[in-house]
Amino acid sequence: MSLTLAVLKGDGIGPEISEATLSVLAAASDRFGLGLSFEDVPVGLAALAAAGSTYPAETAARVEAAEGIILAPLDTYQYPEGQPNPSAQVRRTLDLYANIRPSVSRLPGVGRRLDLVIYRENTEGFYSDRSMFAGSGEFMPTADLALSVRKITRQASERIARAAFEAAARRRGLVTAVHKANVLRQSDGLFLDAVRTVAGEFPDVRLEEVIVDAMAALLVRDAARFDVVVTTNMYGDILSDEAGELAGGLGLAPALNAGDDHAVAQAVHGSAPDIAGRGIANPVALILSAALLLQRLGARRGEPRLAEAADAIDRAVTAALADPANHTPDLGGRSTTSAFAAAVAAELAG
Ligand code: ATP
Ligand code: MG
Repeated sequence: MSLTLAVLKGDGIGPEISEATLSVLAAASDRFGLGLSFEDVPVGLAALAAAGSTYPAETAARVEAAEGIILAPLDTYQYPEGQPNPSAQVRRTLDLYANIRPSVSRLPGVGRRLDLVIYRENTEGFYSDRSMFAGSGEFMPTADLALSVRKITRQASERIARAAFEAAARRRGLVTAVHKANVLRQSDGLFLDAVRTVAGEFPDVRLEEVIVDAMAALLVRDAARFDVVVTTNMYGDILSDEAGELAGGLGLAPALNAGDDHAVAQAVHGSAPDIAGRGIANPVALILSAALLLQRLGARRGEPRLAEAADAIDRAVTAALADPANHTPDLGGRSTTSAFAAAVAAELAG
């Protein structure tokens, strides 16, 4: 087999953790015969310097043509006014409606025991750039009054619910739908109604419904009981940070942004400009995001070797983390980005 991934190395720590991720993927490719190759696609500040845009048209075209994409963090604060946010462009043009964020405890003695995945609707909800009003879902009728509009559709709710139920059917068979339909009766009511409709297609998956404030508390009290969580955009944003923190922190939290035709591996964390260029960033989140991408592409192609490689990367990361000598400074250790990647690659080879 062969597979080419488009790699957008991003800003800040992006290039460092991308290199670490590619070295792990190369080791997995050797071990499992994946025939992986990588296409470096310019983005962000490097693309701005070279081509005059943070997301040049050629980059957009190559991203649209790619089967799988790795998108490293971006430092959009540094972009001049009017330059595109590549992450938003990618999400919109590829219709990446599912933001998939697993939280798994991997550090012995750190964080809580948990193994859950949040399916967050990624195209609508409360965020202004995703609303029905051109450009903004917020407006100020007067200088002292601001209004926000939240968009929920049956179609978008059903498709995120379907993705969540499909995942639960492969996992432990429980979907928790998080909502606030007791107060937001129409919008969250519509979301819940869509989830219940989809639940009818999955008789072997159990559906439970939890109000978002109770969910925030339950995650702290007993995160281990959750399997797949499905929710609207803003609740998913907040709860996935909470779950990520319970599992050991930002440096370990992976994500996949997925649509019907494309999938993008993207760490939850940002470009960490405060530690960029020092070789000490934790590459785990991006490595695990890339593993999620392989998993997804394997399922789409019916290619079991990709899923095996993804599982092996996941296990190799957990094994490397078991030795504190491999920990980067964010985990209290003294290891480096490249040394961590080498430890994971050695686990994969051995
Ligand atoms: P953004 O708006 O891009 O999300 P942010 O303010 O949330 O920015 P992050 O870049 O997510 O910032 O980082 C928050 C803190 O966590 C910073 O101190 C950063 O150094 C640290 N951090 C984030 N990612 C990593 C990583 N992979 N390894 C080590 N430290 C990290
Ligand atoms: Mg952030």
